Amino acid sequence: MKITFYGAAGEVTGSCYLLENNFKYLVDCGIFQGKSERENESPFLFDPKEIKAVILTHAHLDHSGRIPKLVKEGFKGKIYATYPTIELCEILWLDTVKLMKEEVERINRKNLRSGKPLVEPLYTEKEVEMAMKLFEPVPYDEVVDLSDIKIRFRDSAHILGASSLELWSDGTKIVFSGDIGPQNNVMEGQPSIIEGADYVIIESTYGDRLHKSLEETRSEFESVVLDAIKSQGKILIPSFVVDRAQRVMYELMLLTYKYPFLSKVPIFFDSPMGKKVTEVYEKHSNLLSGEIQKYFLEGINPFELKNLRYLVTPDESKSINELDTGIIIAGSGMCTGGRILHHLKHNLWKENTHVIFVGYQAEGTLGRRIVDGEKTVHIMGEEITVRAKIHTINGFSAHADQSDLVKWTEYFKNDPIFVIVHGEPKASQALSQILQLKGKRTIIPSYAQSLDLEKKEIVAPKVAPSFDIESLLEELSSYAVKLKSSTVPQDLETYSLLKSALHLLKEVSDRGKSL
Ligand SMILES: [Zn+2]
Ligand SMILES: [Zn+2]
Repeated sequence: MKITFYGAAGEVTGSCYLLENNFKYLVDCGIFQGKSERENESPFLFDPKEIKAVILTHAHLDHSGRIPKLVKEGFKGKIYATYPTIELCEILWLDTVKLMKEEVERINRKNLRSGKPLVEPLYTEKEVEMAMKLFEPVPYDEVVDLSDIKIRFRDSAHILGASSLELWSDGTKIVFSGDIGPQNNVMEGQPSIIEGADYVIIESTYGDRLHKSLEETRSEFESVVLDAIKSQGKILIPSFVVDRAQRVMYELMLLTYKYPFLSKVPIFFDSPMGKKVTEVYEKHSNLLSGEIQKYFLEGINPFELKNLRYLVTPDESKSINELDTGIIIAGSGMCTGGRILHHLKHNLWKENTHVIFVGYQAEGTLGRRIVDGEKTVHIMGEEITVRAKIHTINGFSAHADQSDLVKWTEYFKNDPIFVIVHGEPKASQALSQILQLKGKRTIIPSYAQSLDLEKKEIVAPKVAPSFDIESLLEELSSYAVKLKSSTVPQDLETYSLLKSALHLLKEVSDRGKSL
């Protein structure tokens, strides 16, 4: 069996892995976001008609978003996924179709005027409808026999329905981590433990980061929200509509229990698909963590606060423009589209606005530019000055951090090869280094690289042939001295980077002791 990495190699987005056995399969077929966005237009580097089935780990668009394009180009096989993943895909794909349609109309109005050729959307409702008919729901933990391979979905505790995947073929076992949640994720509980594999294709979104603890994150969110309310401006929370928005609503509920006056602050979940997504969460609440299930059991819906309104139609969304205060949760999470743009355009220039980022911001996105401190940004064709207070809360992440990832790899009892994907290069490198320090074998594949999965060994050398540890240590300590005598920014980014560095150094020193 052979695997080729047609996405999420050297970057986070665009997950798409081609497996070639007796038949051809795809694990995920997601869109590229941020700086590689234009890749979505490129033709697939394989023939969609030859793919027997797509095995989909979860609904996030960077894993599922090119499936309707695959269908448009002739794919007719089955799509295996969990029930909630299927329901979430329909909502996300139809929303994508709507956004693409608006974007194409805008571009074509321009192109008509300038005499350029007209463009087409990546896909339309028609392909979404066709793709929906190809889904085969698969429950967690059941083995499915696809003749030449067997597969089993395991709960990865990342978003509702998200899975790691075990795949067997001719005596070789491959595990795809999918996107993995933190150990004890507030929303989905604990990721499944998998104990053996020959190859583990593992994500590394936060391979170089440690999240703050749950307690720290909650108190950080609490102080940011309380502080922002004092400014009497709007509080904008750009959020992924799936999972993160529900988490934010739940955290706001907990805060309201602690500070009852918060029940007077209006909260809006401004998203055309927000209501539907939340309904999927309510319907499958048995798959959520014990902490969340407990509320449902007591008859309390953690996603329905008394002062919370779901704004579905554009008119409902516009109706809050005139309000001076209030908390607005809106997509998209990285500010690449959606209603958050409209709220940013109208409020980012005001000093009493607070923007709270609660999720990952990929390189090249508007969200990343704001987080990176740009003084002016372009939103919907207008230049906007950034005067709002910007906050980043990374602890709400639905992704494992470095120590969670390491812990997950340690459940594997045998000695699998870890193939590191789904991360920016420095994150994948950091994870690779820490795993190698623990004696594990790792590879970081590049885009379109293939691996022969029958070999079960790494061809490339594990460590560079010549190395000078003495001068490396000199350099390290000189940096530590320099840092102590200079003013280091007191922010989360710096803290996390230093924490990661400390973690790595500690690993090396412990290793020294045990040798
Ligand atoms: Zn994901
Ligand atoms: Zn992902």
